[in-house]
Amino acid sequence: MAQIAILERKCNGCGQCAKSCPFGAIDMNNGKPELNAACKVCGVCLKNCPQKAIVRLETKVESVDKTQWNDILVFAEVSGGQLHPVSLELIGKARELAKNVNFRVNAILVGRGVEPFAQELLHYGVHEVAVYDDPGLSFFRADAYACCVEDYIKLRKPSVVLVGATSLGRSLAPRLSTRFHTGLTADCTQLELRENTDLVQIRPAFGGNIMAQIVTTRTRPQFATVRYKVMNAPERSAEAAGTVLNRSIPKGVAESPVRHVSTEPVPAVESISDAEILVVGGRGLQKESDLEMIRELAGLLHGDWAVSRPLVEKGWTTNNRQIGLSGRTVRPKLIITFGVSGAIQFASCMNKSDHIIAVNSDGQAPIFEVAHIAVVGDLYQILPDMIRRIKEAQA
Ligand SMILES: Cc1cc2nc3c(=O)[nH]c(=O)nc-3n(C[C@H](O)[C@H](O)[C@H](O)COP(=O)(O)OP(=O)(O)OC[C@H]3O[C@@H](n4cnc5c(N)ncnc54)[C@H](O)[C@@H]3O)c2cc1C
Repeated sequence: MAQIAILERKCNGCGQCAKSCPFGAIDMNNGKPELNAACKVCGVCLKNCPQKAIVRLETKVESVDKTQWNDILVFAEVSGGQLHPVSLELIGKARELAKNVNFRVNAILVGRGVEPFAQELLHYGVHEVAVYDDPGLSFFRADAYACCVEDYIKLRKPSVVLVGATSLGRSLAPRLSTRFHTGLTADCTQLELRENTDLVQIRPAFGGNIMAQIVTTRTRPQFATVRYKVMNAPERSAEAAGTVLNRSIPKGVAESPVRHVSTEPVPAVESISDAEILVVGGRGLQKESDLEMIRELAGLLHGDWAVSRPLVEKGWTTNNRQIGLSGRTVRPKLIITFGVSGAIQFASCMNKSDHIIAVNSDGQAPIFEVAHIAVVGDLYQILPDMIRRIKEAQA
């Protein structure tokens, strides 16, 4: 870690440092320069100080012995008595990453009645499945679940821990990374593993304007969450390989102060993330009633409909129909967009769809960079025409 220090005995109070600082991080106080919190340790002041009164101090930070942390652990989420499909997608990605550095992929199941899922996971190339199965884990309590995962991490010391970016995973992963005083990157869209076992966690940042590469260089394990439908699930192999390790429940589970009082299930809502065919409307639509054409085409194709963010902001529909960084990630077999420009915040959450057809009147629209079929034209001609033709064909 580096920091800037001002040597009082050398400083003559000329103020050159304050004038040169690009971040306004130096205040002149009674002729004395003082650093404020805006300092980025860029070193411009060092170069501009005529008295050489400013120095950079380097503090050596201890790094963990990375060779002691091996393999990749996937938190296999079971909720509502079902294995969440993101768990298999994470196993698929973990296997890909593991190949480069000869790691193994392990999984962990926590809950009540989760043991049968362990056998199923062994068909997906997992080396070991740790099972924490206990009535005290019937309902998700973040502290109790964290105790179990912590127990297994301490036993096997994985280098990387992957967790689904579900409601449960988003609550669990930060608790775990805090327990190990290590880094967590949420909502990664790409993952790469360097030869030195550092995980490059790639995700949009600053409103999607850059793809940040985040690396946890000095601590282990490296925690990352990934949304559903971002990675590919592996094929199920007919043969089961690997072992199941039944672990006794750590005492932290019984000691949890969180008590389950009652459960009120929220009515299941069909998610656009599960749709195989999606018809999407964007700001190219002029009025709310025009969404009816989007819905009609979706119905004719036996699919679902979705929107870009501006239509949610206009109050035309709710956020659960929004594709994008602040909405849902989708990966249907077919997606048709009408009047969507294809901003990165939208495109990065649908660009892995199997077939993308985009309709836009602007031939330069960024959506055409991800589309397989680009239709340059007016949606008010093309959309009614498609509806009419499909109706005729179906008749
Ligand atoms: C932090 C952050 C998070 C965000 N999250 C999301 C998100 O989750 N989802 C999201 O969608 N956006 C998100 N955005 C906003 C995003 O940057 C864009 O502003 C948004 O996606 C634009 O929506 P649009 O393409 O519908 O509208 P516009 O960008 O306005 O595009 C409208 C398009 O319609 C075309 N068009 C107009 N008339 C016609 C016509 N008659 N026929 C055919 N084409 C026509 C135009 O050529 C234009 O390309 C986010 C932004 C930030 C900063």
